[in-house]
Amino acid sequence: MNTNHCRGVEIVFFTDIDDTLMQTKRKCPVGDSELIVGARDRDGNALSFLTKKQLALFQCMSKNTTVIPVTGRNLPALERTDIKLDCAPFRITGHGAEVTDAGGQVPSGWCPPEGHKQQQEQLQILSQQVHGWIKERPQLRVKLVTERDSVPVYLSVKGSRSTDNRQVLSAFIQQFSPVMKQWNWKIHSNGNNVALLPSFACKARAVRFVRQEIEKTSGNHLSIGAGDSHSDNDFLKECDFQMIPSNSQLATLLGNAHDAVSE
Ligand SMILES: [Mg+2]
Repeated sequence: MNTNHCRGVEIVFFTDIDDTLMQTKRKCPVGDSELIVGARDRDGNALSFLTKKQLALFQCMSKNTTVIPVTGRNLPALERTDIKLDCAPFRITGHGAEVTDAGGQVPSGWCPPEGHKQQQEQLQILSQQVHGWIKERPQLRVKLVTERDSVPVYLSVKGSRSTDNRQVLSAFIQQFSPVMKQWNWKIHSNGNNVALLPSFACKARAVRFVRQEIEKTSGNHLSIGAGDSHSDNDFLKECDFQMIPSNSQLATLLGNAHDAVSE
């Protein structure tokens, strides 16, 4: 039974998924033989895994709080996770470009910000440019991530798992930074992944909206945000408490990572 209230205050857990609750095998602790499958690819093959501690955290939060995913995954990719999100009253997907309710519908008050149509057109153009740029760089692959009705929400570039892609990803960022700056978009880079994010894909804006919706029904509530990346930072600031994994981009930024190196 979900007991997501304490002393009359609802506790809401806004959580990123990848590299917070689960990660690909190569990012899991070496020698951990008790990994639990967390997400699958389209063919049903295991792709991401939870450690026992991550599973314990998720189960604890599921039992005691209202869990709301806040993820770069689109809805179909979120549905390919094995973690139980049935009770989530909202899902924030596509890096905050989309909010859906428990029934899979867009809440009536949720609307994209002004200028999002133009940004969607820019995404299509950018996608062609990036495809052209990576044509001779086969270690990279690009995907225009879409939400319902094939609406484009951001551009994802990933490096091959079998090569060291740091140089080529750095060159990619250098190549596309000027236009991102010009358009006031963000580049999110974490390890082998880079995302080119239009300003309408904003986790903080989506969390703000959901908090207002929750306030309508539950009044004041306690919010805890969990995330690992720079791109999570703004939505964590929307929450009363912030939780970050100790081996993460944000922890490294704070100098708190287990393997943090001071220079
Ligand atoms: Mg993450």
